[in-house]
Amino acid sequence: METNIATPPDSIAPRVVTIAEGLDLTLRVTEYNKPLQAGEDGHDKIKAIVDFNVTRQYLVDNSESEVIKKLLTTREFAEAGQSIINLDEHNPLAVEAILCAIYRKNESWRLSTLGEEVTARTLNLGLDHRILQPFPYDRFNHIEGFLFITEYLVYNSAHVKEYKNTKHPDLHVPPRVISALNSARGHLRVLLARWLWNPMDDVLKAKCRCKEKTVFQYLKALTDTDGWPVDQQSRKSVNEVCEDLKTFKEHFSLPASHNICINCGRDWHFVVANAIAEIQGYFDGMCLDCMDHTQPKFLDEHTDYWNHLDPEEWDAECRVHHGQATWYSSFMGRADTRNELLSRVRSQKRRNY
Ligand SMILES: [Zn+2]
Ligand SMILES: [Zn+2]
Repeated sequence: METNIATPPDSIAPRVVTIAEGLDLTLRVTEYNKPLQAGEDGHDKIKAIVDFNVTRQYLVDNSESEVIKKLLTTREFAEAGQSIINLDEHNPLAVEAILCAIYRKNESWRLSTLGEEVTARTLNLGLDHRILQPFPYDRFNHIEGFLFITEYLVYNSAHVKEYKNTKHPDLHVPPRVISALNSARGHLRVLLARWLWNPMDDVLKAKCRCKEKTVFQYLKALTDTDGWPVDQQSRKSVNEVCEDLKTFKEHFSLPASHNICINCGRDWHFVVANAIAEIQGYFDGMCLDCMDHTQPKFLDEHTDYWNHLDPEEWDAECRVHHGQATWYSSFMGRADTRNELLSRVRSQKRRNY
């Protein structure tokens, strides 16, 4: 990563992107049409220049990346009070995604108009999926970014795959990360189908006169959304299936009857909306700390820790907050060890109630 005070050619005006208010630093990202040769200044190959307005101290305090910290605190830049740092040969979209992941740690930024704007832009589906790769976050041990990207891939891909870097085939995450992401994606579909089906179990056992019509209206409306049956939506991402299912209210109406029973007269809109909301909040991404703790070697050495796994705190030893689904997907030991731990925690939970 070469750094110097940037002087763009007069013909190319940098595009300015504000990431944080109160900027005291600009990260100037220059993207080239072709890789630069040694000693070349590249002025005739510039594809785009983007100036990211950021706050130096926040990045120093919150970035997990030693590379970024070093870049921002190196005497040459920090003490000289340089307000522009040049990042040559980087992809501006990728840099914006990384900055967004770092700033999202701050709740007031996340909830601010600016934070929401940056997040929406970064997560825009038009964004080239190839830049949304987990590898850089894994390599820099950037836990927040890794969580964010892996969650994004699970919810927004019809099938998660890692794009090969043809120049550096050695740069990839362990293959089991990609298979864990695809399993997480599959699990979300199974759960969504189950939660949408569950109320049918009661109706099928019912003795009322409205049950047939209710089953028909419900399944017909789900089918009309184009998001049902869930297991036949393999070309869509989980979020796309959810978007289809959100149109349920346009297709459903209760059977016309004055005496509809409690079972059939339940709030079906709520049933569907709730299943969608639960699914969309179910998986938080993969956790680098859980991946680290669950390496087979660590499992053997820390039996005490695992014996005291808390049923309410799946992120007890982690730098980020997350639930059980993240722990499960990030487990790097043997599957039978994971299942044994899980059943132990579940029986402990039952005892506690
Ligand atoms: Zn009924
Ligand atoms: Zn964790």
